[in-house]
Order: sequence, then C-alpha cells, then structure tokens
Amino acid sequence: MPYFISGVTADHTDLIARTPAEFKSLNDIDVLTRHRVLEVDTANRKIKVADLVSGREFYDHYTRLLISTGAHAFLPELPGSSLEGVFTLRKLADSISIRQFVRSRRVASAVIVGAGPIGIEMCESFRSLGIEVSLVESAEQVMPFMAADLAALVQDRLEREGVACYLGQAVEGIEGGPGGAVRAVRTASSTIDAEVVLLGLGVRPSSELASAAGIELGVKGAIRVDRRMATSAPGVFAAVDCATAINTISGLETWMPLGSTARKQGRLAGETMFGADTGFPGIQGTSVVKCFDITVGRTGLDSSESSAAGFQPAVVDIAAPSLHDYYPGGGTIHLKVIADGPSGRILGAQTVGAMHSVAEKRLDVLAVAVHAGLTAEDLQYLDLAYAPPYSTAVDAVGIAGNLMAGKILAPGCSCDAFGLD
Ligand SMILES: Cc1cc2nc3c(=O)[nH]c(=O)nc-3n(C[C@H](O)[C@H](O)[C@H](O)COP(=O)(O)OP(=O)(O)OC[C@H]3O[C@@H](n4cnc5c(N)ncnc54)[C@H](O)[C@@H]3O)c2cc1C
Repeated sequence: MPYFISGVTADHTDLIARTPAEFKSLNDIDVLTRHRVLEVDTANRKIKVADLVSGREFYDHYTRLLISTGAHAFLPELPGSSLEGVFTLRKLADSISIRQFVRSRRVASAVIVGAGPIGIEMCESFRSLGIEVSLVESAEQVMPFMAADLAALVQDRLEREGVACYLGQAVEGIEGGPGGAVRAVRTASSTIDAEVVLLGLGVRPSSELASAAGIELGVKGAIRVDRRMATSAPGVFAAVDCATAINTISGLETWMPLGSTARKQGRLAGETMFGADTGFPGIQGTSVVKCFDITVGRTGLDSSESSAAGFQPAVVDIAAPSLHDYYPGGGTIHLKVIADGPSGRILGAQTVGAMHSVAEKRLDVLAVAVHAGLTAEDLQYLDLAYAPPYSTAVDAVGIAGNLMAGKILAPGCSCDAFGLD
C-alpha cells in the first residue's frame, strides 16, 4: 500500500490477490463482501451476519468455523485524531483515501507518527511525492524493535533523505485549521506543521467477535490457538493476525502479525479443519523493511529477549563488505548475531545494509539457522555459494560465525572486529 500511495504500483486493483469472482470460478467458494459477522454462537454452531448494503441480518450455520478477522490499527484517545487529513493505514480503502487526499490537495507537508515498519515505508512514499516529512516517535530511536546501534543507521538514512526525526516525543494532540482540516501535530516540546497526518502506532488483534463468544484469548488479547489452529471452542479455529502462535525459540506464546505467517497459517488451518494431522511449528518473527535504499531486517530473539527466555546471549557485531574491493558494486552489511553462550545455538540476527549489498539474503540464511537450531560452529562451515559478483569468499554470515565461535570459546574477547562504519 505505501508503494501504491507513491505510485510505484499504479492501480489498486493490482493489490487484490483474488477477486470474489475468481474465488468462485477457481475454487467454487462463495465470498460475501460487505457482510459483517456480528455474533458467533458456539453452542449452536451458528453465526449472525449483517448485509451491510441492504441492512438485512440473517443466521448461517457451520460445521467448522475459521475466524480470521485480522488486526486493526491502534488508535489511542488523541485530541484531533478525527480531523480531516488524519489517516491510519491498514486497509486498501485507507491507501486509496490517502493517495487521493495527498494528490488532490497537493499536500506539501506530512507528519508520520510512529517509526515502525509502516511509518518508515510511508516516509519514503511521501518523500518520493515531494512532500516534506516529519517523523515523530515516543521511543528514543526509530524502529524500536531493532537494536539501538542499527536503528541509528536507519535514522541517519532517513535524515539524509530529508526526514526530520522527532524522537522521544509522544504526540499529545492534533490541531485543526480554520476549515476543519489538520494543521499541526503537537508534542510536549514541538508543534509541527502538517497538511496530512499518518498515525502508524501499531496494530491490535481483532478478537472482539471471539471474545464475545466466550473463546479464550491469549497474549496481547489475540485468540489462543493450539498447533492445529484450534481455539477453545469445539469446531472453531482461528488463524493469522487475530491469533496467537508459539515462538519457536523461546517456546512462549507470542503475537506477531505478519503477512508471511498469514499465508502459512491460513493454508494449515484449512487443512487441519478438515482432519489433516499437521501442526504449525510456530514463528520466529523474520521481517524486512525497505527504507529508501537500505534494507532493515531481523529474525529471532534479540539480546534481552534471549535473557528473558533463559539463554545466556553472546552478541557479535560486524560491518562487512558484501563484495571484494576489486569487484564493483556491493556495499556494507551491518550484521548483529545473537547466540546462546553455553550451547552456541543461534538465537537471532538483525541487519542493516545497502539494498545492493543484499543484506536480506544473509538475514534469510540466519533465519534458517535459527529455525534449524544451528550453532555458531555450523555457521562457520555452511557451504554458501561464492563468486566475486555475489559475495566475498567468506561471507558476512561466515565471518559472524567465526567471530561468534571465537567469542564463545574465549569468553570476554572483543568481537566487534569491524565496528560499525
Ligand atoms: C501497510 C502495511 C504493510 C504491511 N507490510 C507487510 C510486509 O511487508 N510483510 C509482512 O509480512 N506483513 C506486512 N503487513 C502485515 C500483513 O498485511 C498482515 O499480517 C496480513 O494481512 C494479515 O492477514 P489477515 O488475514 O490476518 O488479516 P487482514 O488482512 O486484516 O484481513 C482480515 C479481514 O477480516 C475482516 N473482518 C474483520 N472483522 C470482521 C467481521 N466481524 N466480519 C467480517 N469480516 C471481518 C476485515 O475487514 C479484513 O478484511 C503489512 C500490513 C500493512 C497494513
């Protein structure tokens, strides 16, 4: 959607994976758009539905029911949040409204509240339309889910692209102008002019329907499911952004709404609802974000999450070239790898790199390492592809493995061999 707003994706219909007509012709599935489920009666296995066009309400019955109501944008009580020109970005309709608004009004200034993935993607989207962008974040760093030293690299890139970062500042209110449209965003110490405001304050699971039906909720209010995606109610399953999952590393219940998980869980829920004896192994939270011409991503646990899960984390930081000096192109890959000291098991990784450094490939290798329970020593001996146009003979992943193995074998040695340049 951020790329549709900027025009990289020309038409919103390109974002529709499959239309109701295609569902019908390809799979004989009836899709009822503009219908809302109002209630789930788990005792009698029926749902109450409202046709939002005609206003008619009716009941339907199920043998098995999947709740996949997704998540919704978090919108705190904030004075001025309903002013014209204040948006959240969750649904396709939101992106159409934002695109129309900024183009028809020839918007010149935007405030983005929240420096998470959507806020970061929207910085690039608005800047590419020539809009002045201010980014306001209550945490002391952008991308609060990244380590501070890597987040500083992201902030640097944002500022070099003309994004004004207001960190450690919570928004206290949004002010309107004479015509009722948004005029400025107010924090405790700043008033920032804005003709459009995007609130990217995170999401919450849409679990109200399940909760009202007496279905058990879990962490962060998401619908608690087992490995077959079954809820506490017989015959009722739940999947994806509205549901919990198990973190594969800590073994703890977690809630991480991601589209990559959505595809896997949706398919699996469909199978298990009809008897397949498969189970969802869980998630480790691998994600990646483009910030102008850099790539930012993480997988698995960070250092403090590792400690909280009972591990003894060892961390190595490297900044390695993606290619040898003698071959043109490439760039620096900043990589932070976290492993459990006693066992050497890789627990997580974070990266920031220029897009042409292909940092996300290294992140994916490390995601596989985390998934497979590989150790630092395993990383040293991974048989990764090498030729000068693609990588160095010892890839960033191998360097991290060498340093980590050294660190674990010789505790106390400094492994920030390359530093962060
Ligand atoms: C701007 C943006 C960028 C993103 N980028 C990425 C990315 O790069 N990578 C990634 O992995 N993830 C990304 N995500 C997250 C990803 O889109 C979600 O994880 C995924 O869409 C979740 O799918 P879902 O089916 O659970 O929920 P949704 O896609 O939200 O679908 C839930 C649907 O249920 C409907 N619904 C809710 N309640 C009812 C009811 N009572 N009756 C009937 N219908 C109801 C809703 O209207 C909605 O259409 C992004 C999200 C956004 C908003």
